[in-house]
Amino acid sequence: MDDYDHESISIAEALQRIESDLTPITDSVQVTIHNALGQVLAQDVCSPMNVPNFPSSAMDGYALRHSDVSPVARLRVVGTAFAGKPYAHAIHAGECLRIFTGAMLPEGADSVMMQEYVHTEGDAIQLTAPCTAGQYVVRVGENVQVGQKILSAGKRLLPADLGLLAALGINEIAVKRRLRVAFFSTGDELCTVGQVPKAGQIYDSNRHSLAGLLKRLEMDGLDMGIIPDDPIAVEQAFLRAAQDCDAIITSGGVSVGDADFVTKILRKIGHIHFWKIAMKPGRPLTFGKIQAVAFFGLSGNPVSMMSTFYQFVQPALRYLQGQQKVQPLRFQVPCLSLLKKLQGRVEFQRGILTPDAQGQLSVRSTGQQGASMLSSMSQANCFIILPIECSEIAVGEKVWVEPFEGLI
Ligand code: AMP
Ligand code: MG
Repeated sequence: MDDYDHESISIAEALQRIESDLTPITDSVQVTIHNALGQVLAQDVCSPMNVPNFPSSAMDGYALRHSDVSPVARLRVVGTAFAGKPYAHAIHAGECLRIFTGAMLPEGADSVMMQEYVHTEGDAIQLTAPCTAGQYVVRVGENVQVGQKILSAGKRLLPADLGLLAALGINEIAVKRRLRVAFFSTGDELCTVGQVPKAGQIYDSNRHSLAGLLKRLEMDGLDMGIIPDDPIAVEQAFLRAAQDCDAIITSGGVSVGDADFVTKILRKIGHIHFWKIAMKPGRPLTFGKIQAVAFFGLSGNPVSMMSTFYQFVQPALRYLQGQQKVQPLRFQVPCLSLLKKLQGRVEFQRGILTPDAQGQLSVRSTGQQGASMLSSMSQANCFIILPIECSEIAVGEKVWVEPFEGLI
């Protein structure tokens, strides 16, 4: 028994096809860095200044002129400089300045002697150790030079980036506008949480997972509710969503059952690609366009929905917004569970990655892997990725993992 399907395509192939059909948005907006977390830079950022932009002391000690240094020299202490409180004058031959870490070096000084290697005598000092020219001076532009490229267009701004921008005196930047993503659930069996389900109904979980995923991507999700399995309702909902958003995501109704209208309607009012992907869960993936709006039709099974979102929709939306490509973080660790699968598809099982007492990482399975078992997704913190040809992983064998990195 195997699970090969010769009509199916690889994940990489599907992603490439999706990207070749999408054009990244170009619109940008100005925001202050206070509002920029998670936004995507629309332009390269070059530093308007040197960092630091004045020379300072790296130690508590004395700022002096290296040309004055000799084993017998006595240097007169003419004042003190603290961090943020510079000494207002230059120092001249035979003079030095008491200085503390971070304080601006006075004009005329070029080196700093640590206080531990200085002998004080009234208002003068003598050095008790050799002094190298320029020692313990933090130079102008040591961290960043004026004009240097600091961040590239397409970078998604994280907390360190916000600090970096502030350190350069940049308070406002151009970012890509937020993507607007409409999403629906489809199915007569679905009931919105908070309402009373009729006989045979289940609660709609997918819209809530999708809302969370989009929020974490800092995109504007438009929750368009549940559409019944009815072709007219599906068509109206799609046309409405296409009016003012960049992408539409649906879950459910993409199979070939009598009540599956998503693909039929998409074929009627837009363009459609329907691919079987050599992955589990989430073999069928419907991708298409309604006018210029990207359309992703995901399986209704909650785990398939989230896995395909993670592997396809997430990179596609990032691409559409003009984000730089980020290579998914994947690495190998020993697996503490016996895993079985059929050959023929890449499998994304749910795993729990934990360090042992020595800090060595290993992964174990969350247990049952059914496509509807959303609790497995909730317990997991990573995918365990089992290649197409793999059929079994023995306990202790290494497997590839991909941490959810805060998205799921
Ligand atoms: P479908 O993709 O419509 O064939 O649905 C596959 C399975 O997922 C069925 O058992 C559905 O009842 C279930 N399902 C579909 N949509 C949702 C949803 N929004 N929330 C939870 N389960 C769903
Ligand atoms: Mg359905």
